[in-house]
Amino acid sequence: MRKPFIAANWKMNKTSSETREFISGFVPAVKDVTDVDIVLAPPFTSLAIASENLKNTNVLLAAQDIFYEEKGAYTGEVSPLMLIDIGCKYVIIGHSERRQYFNDTDEVVNKKIIAAKKAGLGVIFCIGESLAERDAGKTFEVLQREIINGLKGIDEKDIVVAYEPLWAIGTGKTATPEQAQEAHAYIRERLGILYGNNADEIRILYGGSVTPENMNSLMVCNDVDGALVGGASLKVESFIKIVTFRGEQ
Ligand code: PEP
Repeated sequence: MRKPFIAANWKMNKTSSETREFISGFVPAVKDVTDVDIVLAPPFTSLAIASENLKNTNVLLAAQDIFYEEKGAYTGEVSPLMLIDIGCKYVIIGHSERRQYFNDTDEVVNKKIIAAKKAGLGVIFCIGESLAERDAGKTFEVLQREIINGLKGIDEKDIVVAYEPLWAIGTGKTATPEQAQEAHAYIRERLGILYGNNADEIRILYGGSVTPENMNSLMVCNDVDGALVGGASLKVESFIKIVTFRGEQ
């Protein structure tokens, strides 16, 4: 039985004081949720305040990115040890916005995952196809390439995969439960080639315009084990509703 995993990706949103305010409304409302792993990924500048305010709660902290070197002359970058030191348990790696705007190639993604795991961080590994790739019938091909290259030489421990079709991110256009299940089943099959039966334990999240309204219909899919949520995680009420989804048909 895979425990649902629901993570908020705030992207470049919220100052430190907005982060504190969110947490003060959110944490008490979800304090009794024991059957979901709940994760917040604020921007780097809010990690310290979030870490302080999430201490002794059931909400875990994640960063939105990482650099793969341990330290040195890499202006603007943040190392795995810095994230551990500030209280992060997870890091998002390979988000499509990083791939698209910051040249995070499959090779870079792979190096980042290796570095994160070496430091003891769990990884939320993002993959997904563009609309053009889907329309060209290349969805599985893209997923296969991203999985093979991204997870090269990496064991499955503490890896969470997020399937995020680019055409659904921030567009208000969610994948249908059928589309999500089809992609997730394919991803699990590919993970099975790498990890055998252990692939059954890997959480595969759906991401792309998740809302309180569509969360339940996605979560009833066999291979959808949670969500990576952007826009709808920025409001306390809406993220509470997502985290407390019903989980039934
Ligand atoms: C994301 O960027 O990870 C995401 C899923 O965004 P949104 O929920 O806003 O589509």
